[in-house]
Amino acid sequence: MSILNLMLMTISAAAAPVQERADQFLHLMNAGYQALYRVESEAQWRAATDVKPEHDAGAEVAGQARAAFNGNPAVIAEARALLEHRAELTPVTVRQLERVLLNAAEGPMTNPDLVTARIAAETRQASILNSFEFKLAGQPISVNEMDHRLQSSRDLADRRAVWEASKQSGPALKPGLIELQRLRNGVARELGYADYFALQAAAHGLTTEEVLRMQAEFMRDLRPLYLQLHTWVKHELARRYQQPVPDRIPAHWIDNRWAQEWVGLVEAVDFDPHLKDRSAESIVQTAETFWTGLGFPRLPDTFWAKSDLYPVKPGDPRKKNTHASCWHIDLESDIRSLMSVEPNWQWFGTAHHELGHAYYDISYTRPGVPPLLRTGASPAFHEGMAEVANMACGMVPYLKGTGVVPADYQADTIAVLLNDALSGAVPFIAWASGTMTHWEADVYAGGLDPAQWNERWWQYVREFQGVEPPSARGEEFCDAATKTHINDTPCYYFSYAIATVLRFQLNDYIARNLLKQPPQNCNYADNREVGAFLRRIMEKGATEDWRTILREATGEDLSTRAMVEYYQPLLAWLEQQNQGRKIGWD
Ligand SMILES: [Zn+2]
Repeated sequence: MSILNLMLMTISAAAAPVQERADQFLHLMNAGYQALYRVESEAQWRAATDVKPEHDAGAEVAGQARAAFNGNPAVIAEARALLEHRAELTPVTVRQLERVLLNAAEGPMTNPDLVTARIAAETRQASILNSFEFKLAGQPISVNEMDHRLQSSRDLADRRAVWEASKQSGPALKPGLIELQRLRNGVARELGYADYFALQAAAHGLTTEEVLRMQAEFMRDLRPLYLQLHTWVKHELARRYQQPVPDRIPAHWIDNRWAQEWVGLVEAVDFDPHLKDRSAESIVQTAETFWTGLGFPRLPDTFWAKSDLYPVKPGDPRKKNTHASCWHIDLESDIRSLMSVEPNWQWFGTAHHELGHAYYDISYTRPGVPPLLRTGASPAFHEGMAEVANMACGMVPYLKGTGVVPADYQADTIAVLLNDALSGAVPFIAWASGTMTHWEADVYAGGLDPAQWNERWWQYVREFQGVEPPSARGEEFCDAATKTHINDTPCYYFSYAIATVLRFQLNDYIARNLLKQPPQNCNYADNREVGAFLRRIMEKGATEDWRTILREATGEDLSTRAMVEYYQPLLAWLEQQNQGRKIGWD
């Protein structure tokens, strides 16, 4: 090649429109991303549905291959160079390039030693977490046994011993967590994020300050209801355990090990007996009919052929992950769900929830959405959309329509609302927006000294949740680390809080504007307008900012307004019940 030719080529490359260069780059990136996503999903699916060391190893290798591609220095450099010309690029191009950098940020090969050290530390942490042996009075006790004891025991000394046993894993996990505080922040800084919390906030299109302000607003708006619930619950529990009414609730009085949900307090609501004579298959079919009734297509045949939906048969040595999930294996039509459906109330809701994920995947799998953007408008949206279905399938008119309860079934409306608020929504916001989010922000963004971790943890539990430990919890403990997400899904919990607020907002719009029914008592079944509303949100995938999508769909920004109004009848009832009682703990 002559010097002249080379010069001409250089000039034409420099003069080529940036959009064209970006199109070529993204064509390759989408193809590579999708291919490796599929390889890793298949390997992880095998590991989750047939738990064996060799399947775990296969999933790890596939994960490394994907990270090596996504975090490749050449990929990072080109995406950055193109984003310097963002004004000359289409919005969907910019969003793809930003996604390329977010994907790279989890494993930037600009610093392979750091990435390797982080993966190794996380693998070690997971292994300690999964194999930790809890002991009660010298005898091994499983997590399920501890949960069961906390749900059934009425003996406070026994409850306290179980609660304290459940915190034994903290000290074992603390050294690894200290290492991960450094390594995760290091990985995030490699791509220019201030710290790991800032990286996770960016995945939601937010800054750390925006996340914290939003979570503080959630708590402020729900505080009056939370204080009323807290007061009612501590009086109930004091009576149950024949104790004086405390200011803060002792942690071992509550069934959940972190007081993140308060269950077992409302006896009136039990739908299990209505489902026990159904088949597990019919539960999943009812969930599919919920979605097809809204105008969505049938699930693809491959869903039924390849999913793993029911418990392993007795005598089968295969072990599978029992946590429900939905998988978009190839970012095309291979969508599978991993469940262990049994005919009970919990799985009835979970089946509707998981198929919500499946129909979100189906909706954005179309030519207008490139594979890099085949995901929720934000991580919270996937969960929020699935939760809307879970919420809708618990409404009494729907249960009557599907024959779960008889047509003359009389619901105790306040008991239903109370149970719903306690078990899945209101204490959860205090925990998720309060304790979890603030503690992790302190650890990652604030660089909190590990010598203060437990003190800070309990400061937040006391302040946000109004809960206190049964005994002093010094720095010899690390109670935060007993929560799985602190170890393996860091700085993500605020997403669940957003999803909770979002589901009330979407249900509110659907009930009032489309169904013209009360949000607490409505029936989505067979309503095509409801389906069209949900599809308009879901078919966009991540091609637009979630705030724009939400505002266009509902005319409203993310807000607790709907959630607060939903519980208005409950608040009025609680205020009556709590008359003359001291509200709150200060
Ligand atoms: Zn989900």
